[in-house]
Amino acid sequence: MTAVRTRFAPSPTGFLHLGGARTALFSWAYARHFGGTFVLRIEDTDLERSTPEAVQAIIDGMQWLGLQHDEGPFFQMQRMDRYREVLARMLADGTAYHCYSSSEEVEAMRERLRAAGEKPRYDGTWRPAPGKTLPPVPAERKPVVRFRNPLDGDVSWDDVVKGRITISNRELDDLVIARPDGTPTYNFCVAVDDWDMQITHVIRGDDHVNNTPRQINILAALGAPLPFYGHLPMILGADGEKLSKRHGAVSVMEYPAEGFLPEAMLNYLARLGWSHGDDEIFSMEQFCAWFDLDHLSKSAAQFNPEKLAWVNNHYIKQSDDVRLAELTSPVLVTMGADFHDAPQLDAVIGLLKERADTIQALAESAMLFYRQPVPDAALLAQHLTPAIKPALAQFLTQLGSIAWDKTAIAGLIKEVLAAHQLKMPQLAMPLRLVLTGQLQTPSIDSVIVLFGQAVTTARIQQYL
Ligand code: GLU
Repeated sequence: MTAVRTRFAPSPTGFLHLGGARTALFSWAYARHFGGTFVLRIEDTDLERSTPEAVQAIIDGMQWLGLQHDEGPFFQMQRMDRYREVLARMLADGTAYHCYSSSEEVEAMRERLRAAGEKPRYDGTWRPAPGKTLPPVPAERKPVVRFRNPLDGDVSWDDVVKGRITISNRELDDLVIARPDGTPTYNFCVAVDDWDMQITHVIRGDDHVNNTPRQINILAALGAPLPFYGHLPMILGADGEKLSKRHGAVSVMEYPAEGFLPEAMLNYLARLGWSHGDDEIFSMEQFCAWFDLDHLSKSAAQFNPEKLAWVNNHYIKQSDDVRLAELTSPVLVTMGADFHDAPQLDAVIGLLKERADTIQALAESAMLFYRQPVPDAALLAQHLTPAIKPALAQFLTQLGSIAWDKTAIAGLIKEVLAAHQLKMPQLAMPLRLVLTGQLQTPSIDSVIVLFGQAVTTARIQQYL
């Protein structure tokens, strides 16, 4: 078998969206599976819509995900000489021809066919044929180049995802492959590139299914080997609609900003339209080992933000606290965190990460330790009653003489509860309020351990 070569070929007209990232992931993983080569190609021939920012956004997105390409990025705009060379060759060998019909004439012929109840297409006026005399070349008119598509027969391919697809050549026009100014058009560039870059497997979204027979015909006319094609069904929102802003972030780079980990994103994307038994959580090493283009789903995948959050929570729980602290710290800064006399962030994260779906959520809960508590007066009155104050005072006194760890603090709490005949919440709630300003915190002994003796003592003292 020839070495596997796959490619990701985005058009740089916006951000890298989830569908594009999944295409990149599958192409990358398939190349990795076979120790092959993954090529990045930027399809930037649409000058009006392509921007350098979008190129950067694609590169940033792939870098964040760790989808390292082995070759490229190749830019189509830098390959114009090559396209011209191939066009000249096709004109010379008769697989393409000059067409001088004006766009108005082409529109009129389409209209005529439509009126006659036929499929609107180019009528072949300028298509050379044995014994046919072509019309005189109109003065001052620059021709387009058309591909001489076979008139009869079918184009078929065994789509790796969808199975056998057959399109009649009668459905296909003599495609314009170069404009009057000589610039090549989309399907032609893709065919030449896939040939030159020796792509063996084209994995892309199924919005390209209609382009495939055209590209296959062009490749055949060039005498180029045909790659395998696999067209991935769309990713839809949970409501079955095309994925859009309404369903959550569509741009991959919004996810780091919202506190998702790249490994969670990859793991989640891998399951959009592919499965390996019931496995939900797996590493990219496992994925690359498994991913052989089998078990791809024929139906559209549904984007499920809750599941993504669940996967992210899994990877947050697995992550090293120091790494999470590095990711959380800048978010805390934007939230106005005060790190003075405050506990170590990695220790705080160790306590809180179990429940956090995102880095943002982790930062929000960590703020507990990085802001001055401002307990609500009504809540204080409710929880810090005169009956409770003596218990709190005893707790404070004895706090000075115990070992500073969770077991000792929990032991002291129990002792005070017993001495004053109180139940746990009667002491834990006022402690939470005076230490953090809120009633919902992780277990109070863990919170106290992290605050440390000086802060804990100072905060309780204010209320006695
Ligand atoms: N440039 C095309 C796109 O961004 C992809 C072309 C292809 O994969 O063949 O949709």
